[in-house]
Amino acid sequence: MSDDAVTPDPQEEPGLALEGGAMREESAYRVLARKYRPQTFDDLIGQDAMVRTLRNAFDAGRIAHAFMLTGVRGIGKTTTARIIARGLNCIGPDGNGGPTISPCGTCEHCTAIAESRSVDVLEMDAASRTGIDDVREIIEGARYTPVSARYKIYIIDEVHMLSKAAFNGLLKTLEEPPAHVKFIFATTEIRKVPVTVLSRCQRFDLKRIEAEALIEYLQAIAEKEGAAPERGALGLIARAAEGSARDALSLLDQALAHGAKAEDGTTLVAEDEVRDMLGLADRARVLDLLNLVMEGDTAGALKELGDQYERGADPIVVLNDLLDLAHWLTRLKIVPEADDDATLPPEEIGRGKEMADRLPINVLTRTWQMLLKTLKEAKDAPRPLAAAEMGIIRLAYAAKLKTPDEVIRMLETDAPLPDMPDPPGTGGSGSGGGSNTPSGSGARSGGPRAAAKPQPVAEAQSMVMLRTYKEVVALAEQHRDIRLKTELEDYVHLISFEMGRIEFRPAPRAPGDLAGRLKTQLEGWTGASWAISIAKEGGAPTIREAREDEWAKAVTAAKNDPLVAAAFEAFPDAQVVDIFEAQDDFTSPAPGNPEFALGDDDDEDL
Ligand SMILES: [Zn+2]
Repeated sequence: MSDDAVTPDPQEEPGLALEGGAMREESAYRVLARKYRPQTFDDLIGQDAMVRTLRNAFDAGRIAHAFMLTGVRGIGKTTTARIIARGLNCIGPDGNGGPTISPCGTCEHCTAIAESRSVDVLEMDAASRTGIDDVREIIEGARYTPVSARYKIYIIDEVHMLSKAAFNGLLKTLEEPPAHVKFIFATTEIRKVPVTVLSRCQRFDLKRIEAEALIEYLQAIAEKEGAAPERGALGLIARAAEGSARDALSLLDQALAHGAKAEDGTTLVAEDEVRDMLGLADRARVLDLLNLVMEGDTAGALKELGDQYERGADPIVVLNDLLDLAHWLTRLKIVPEADDDATLPPEEIGRGKEMADRLPINVLTRTWQMLLKTLKEAKDAPRPLAAAEMGIIRLAYAAKLKTPDEVIRMLETDAPLPDMPDPPGTGGSGSGGGSNTPSGSGARSGGPRAAAKPQPVAEAQSMVMLRTYKEVVALAEQHRDIRLKTELEDYVHLISFEMGRIEFRPAPRAPGDLAGRLKTQLEGWTGASWAISIAKEGGAPTIREAREDEWAKAVTAAKNDPLVAAAFEAFPDAQVVDIFEAQDDFTSPAPGNPEFALGDDDDEDL
C-alpha cells in the first residue's frame, strides 16, 4: 500500500456526502471512513482483480456501457462507482486528458463528482425510488448529451430493488445505449437482478478485504491520526469488521475515542480496551477454558467460567467464542493454512496448533456439536450462565469418554499396547490408561491387556522393544507425530514385522518418503536400527480398513444384544454413536450398563 493511500481527501467536509443525491450506503459512514474514503484505485485496498480488469479495459479503449458492482454492504461499491465516474469524466490537470483509471482529482469534473455536485453524474438509490416513473426520468434524460462532461453517468445503488416495470424500462436504454451515457449499478443481491440486465453489464464482484490487508490499512490510518494502537487491537477490529473497510474504520473511530492519551499526545489503543468495547471475552482465557474442558477438569472449567462471568463476560458470548474455537481447531487440524489468520496473535496460534494436534478429529466435531446445542439452550434459558455451566459439565464429562475408534483400536490390538501414561495435558484423548474411564467400569483393571506390558519409553532405557506393528503406530502417537501415525494407519499393508525390521506394501496414495521417515523416526524413538523394506504385492489390510471393518461388526454385534435390540425397538431412529469400553468383551454388555450408550439426534452425547 502506498503512503498516499491514507492521505485525507482535501475536498471532503464532514456531512457533505450525506446530502442530496448521496447514496444510502453513505449514511453509515463515520468520520474516519469519510475522511479516508479512497479517491483513486490506488487508495482502494483489497480489490486488485477488479482494478486490473478495469485498467485493461480503459487502456484498450473498450470501456463498457454499464457496470454492475456487487458485494456485501460496506465493501466499497459506492466508492468504486464514484472513482469509475471520475475516471470516465476526468480531463486531467491540463484539461486535455482522456478517460483514465487514475483520475487526477483536481480537474473540474473530478472535484464536482467528489462533492456530489456534477450535473452530469446522477446518483439514485433504487431502494427509495423503485418505480417506472423514476426510471422514466433517467430514460428521458439519457437522450440529451451531457452538459459539460464527457459522459452522462447514472449511478444506481441497490438496483435489485427496482420494480419489474422499471427494469423493463431501463432495459430498452441498456440495449441501445447512446454513446454519451454510462450506467454504474451497485447491488448487494445480484440474484435479484434480471439476467437480461446483467447480460448487458460488465460485472465486478467486490471481495471482502483480507484481514492482513485490513490491519495494515488501519495501522497506516491510525498513524496518520497520531495514534499508536496495539496490533492485537487492530486484529480484533479487523475480525469484527468481517472484511469491510468501512466497518473497520467506524470501529477504529470508536477505539480512538476510547483510547487514553500518552504524554506526547499519542492516542493509545490497547487490545483489552478494544475487546471490552466489542464485548468480546478474552480469547486467551477462552482457550484456557476449552483446554480445561478437554482435559475433563470439570471443577477447573466451572471456576474459569465463573471467573469470566465475574469479569463481566456474557455466557452467550463465551459459548460463541468456544464454538468459534472448536471450529478453528478443527480447521487447523485439516487445513494447515488455517493458521495464517492474521487477526490472531502468534502465541494463540501456537496454542491452537498444539491443541489441534492433540485432539482427535471426532472429539473436535463432537465438541462443536455439543457447544452448538448448549448455545441454543443458553439462549432460551432464564439464566444463561446455568445453561452454560451444564454444557461445560457435559463436555468435560464427554471428554473423559473414549471415542469409538479408540475402543476399536483396543479391540483389534491382539498384542498389548505400550501402556504409557498420557503426557501432561492430554486429558481423555490419549490412547492409554483406564483412569479416565468414568466410574462404573470396574472390570478393566487386571485384564489380559495389563498383564504383559512392554517397558515404557524412558530416558534411562537404552532401547525400546516393539512387539507388534500396532505398537509402532502407538509410538508415533505417543510422540505426537500425527502425520506419520495417520499414514501408518492408512497407507501400510503390512507383510511382516519384527523388532528392527518391517516389510510392507504402500497403498497407492502413500507418500514416497514414508519408509524413509518411518525409519528415521523409529530409530530415534527406539534407539535401535531399523530396516524398512517395500514390496509391490501382498500385505494385510491397512489398520484403517481393519478398523472400519471392526466397527461395522461391532455395531452389528451391539444391535444383536437383547437389551440394545429392545432399545432399538423402542427408538427406531436410534443410532449407535459410541461404544464405550466397559469390560473385556464389550459386545455383550452387562445388563443396565450405563456406559453402553445409544443415542438419537436429540441426545447423542451422554
Ligand atoms: Zn480529473
